Amino acid sequence: MTTVQACGDSARNVLCCPVAGIDAEEVFDAYPVAEAISAFFTGNREYSNLPRKFKISVTGCRDDCAQAELNDVGLWPARHPDGALGFNLLVGGGLSDGARLASDIDVFVTPDRAVEVARAIAQLFGELGNRENRGQSRMRYLVQEMGPEGFRDELAARAAFALPPAGESLTRRYRGDHVGVHRQRQAGLSYVGLNVTVGRIAGTDLEQAGSLADAYGDGRVRLATDQNLIISGVPDDRLDELLAEPLLDVHSPNPGPFQRGAVACTGTEFCRFAIVETKVRMVEWARHLDRVFDGTVGSGATPGGTVGPGHSGDDIVRIHLSGCSASCAQPQIADIGLRGETAKKEGRMVEAVDIGLGGSLGTDAAFIDWVDGAKPADEVPDALVGLVRRYREERHPDERFHEWARRVPNPELRGVLTGSGGPAAAERSE
Ligand code: SF4
Repeated sequence: MTTVQACGDSARNVLCCPVAGIDAEEVFDAYPVAEAISAFFTGNREYSNLPRKFKISVTGCRDDCAQAELNDVGLWPARHPDGALGFNLLVGGGLSDGARLASDIDVFVTPDRAVEVARAIAQLFGELGNRENRGQSRMRYLVQEMGPEGFRDELAARAAFALPPAGESLTRRYRGDHVGVHRQRQAGLSYVGLNVTVGRIAGTDLEQAGSLADAYGDGRVRLATDQNLIISGVPDDRLDELLAEPLLDVHSPNPGPFQRGAVACTGTEFCRFAIVETKVRMVEWARHLDRVFDGTVGSGATPGGTVGPGHSGDDIVRIHLSGCSASCAQPQIADIGLRGETAKKEGRMVEAVDIGLGGSLGTDAAFIDWVDGAKPADEVPDALVGLVRRYREERHPDERFHEWARRVPNPELRGVLTGSGGPAAAERSE
């Protein structure tokens, strides 16, 4: 870990799949590629004065947990017609204002050429990106303006080699988290994903996680984009012992579906842009929902790991709370996205949230619709309970929350959130 380029108009931390090298189904281990790209940009002054920050994701796994579609540059696995494995290239994704899913620009990249391609894109961004208006200077605006083909042409003019067309895509797209017990590609070993609700863990617990990794695993603790941690390299005959450790009561491999799906940004506690407190509030709301719904959302089927009944990526409700419009908690891709606001209540200003519904990554990726505005924070738990209750009553078999939210018209969803109801499904169909 380094603080170098943790901020500034430069390449940021390069994302990779947290279980690279151990995932039983990965196409190939892309971690060395991520490391090489990171090493190229970190401290490289030639690319430290870009128009704006520059985010890169690289993965050789099939599940896109590194969220290629939300980064300025995304490399996800593909196969060239000659059989070579490498990446297809996406550019121009991101959230915040002007949220956009990245465009596939029809380029195949072999692992040994990934650093040069990332470099050439940074050069392109540096030369053609908007330096006048910081509100529109992220690369997604440039890709939108130029179009995927125009961007590809400019990239081809700057890359050190000809750009081959995209290969056969090998991604299944976003699957969700790595919570639970999962078999590794190495026979006889598993990794255990522990839920760290909203990414907040006590220092003593983090030390304990390190000790457990030494005692039971391969000495590594891996951090995931969804704020969880993973202990890897656990032999089969040590799994039960690890699962019985007290830390796993606090950070469970089998959490309730709302605590599992809860994400929160820094909020007012440490962020000067924040409008509302986020971390404590999101934990309280998630625990409340797990209590009210007794740890299930819908069917409770299809576990995401092998521990207990589990809640797969298909059977959790993701609630993401950002303290302002900057989207650090990624509310746009949540089932329920919350964004800090203020509201006037009983003659005084109070903390509030805008509420959006129906976001997801994956094969049906789409951003939320903002459905209700400036709801006072103390009214949110009841509103969420009412919403989830309605979903449980109306859902089709196997229908996930975001699918239901997209099916129901927004005015009706708003009615549920405001307590004014809205017609139930039976009435709507009459
Ligand atoms: S979303 Fe806003 S409040 Fe939250 S960490 Fe980012 S800038 Fe700060």
